[in-house]
Amino acid sequence: MRKRMIEVLRRRGISDEAVLAAMAALPRHFFLEQAFEEHAYEDKPFPIGFEQTISQPFTVAYQSALLNIKNGDRVLEIGTGSGYQAAVLALLGAQVHTIERQAGLYDSAQKLLENLGFSTVRCHFGDGTKGLSRFAPYDKILVTAGAPIVPDALKQQLKFPGGVLVIPVGADVQQMHRIVRTDADVYEQSVLESFRFVPFLDGTVKI
Ligand code: SAH
Repeated sequence: MRKRMIEVLRRRGISDEAVLAAMAALPRHFFLEQAFEEHAYEDKPFPIGFEQTISQPFTVAYQSALLNIKNGDRVLEIGTGSGYQAAVLALLGAQVHTIERQAGLYDSAQKLLENLGFSTVRCHFGDGTKGLSRFAPYDKILVTAGAPIVPDALKQQLKFPGGVLVIPVGADVQQMHRIVRTDADVYEQSVLESFRFVPFLDGTVKI
């Protein structure tokens, strides 16, 4: 089923072999509620509780490819959710910090990633609109929720030259933005395809 998922991703235009290999190696059904297990390799998002979803495999592949992860890259992911995207980044060779605002999801993703042996992923509970300054700067920052605007804090926490921020921007529908920090105050922005993400929200939820 996983192999078939990879073929679907190829047909939909994903050509980054490293990303495809990482996703071919990672059991997505570990990251889903049991009720959805048999659908785990369909190219669809699924509920993970707390009104949140695990992103569709195409979206995970698309965002991962835009980041162009190099071995040892320090990456901040915002919106841990199920932990699946963080695991893909780790398999690509990144040192991952991932932050989640919803305590229940933070708890379960942290336990799962630890049980699966992902020692290069560190989970954090907090509001990602502020980034995670404690471990900045980052080679790459990935936002996996739909952001009304690009928070300045995230741009400031990119390494320069060459740090990359991938963030879906928009209210109802989001345009994928890829922003490269080429100098302290210089950012180059590309606006790419449209997606629908769950919203990027301020603050934290402790239950
Ligand atoms: N990357 C996840 C996708 C999760 S959906 C996966 O692979 O499963 C987006 C997640 O972003 C949700 O879990 C939501 O709670 C979280 N989120 C939304 N706003 C946030 C914020 N300000 N800080 C941290 N996480 C946030």
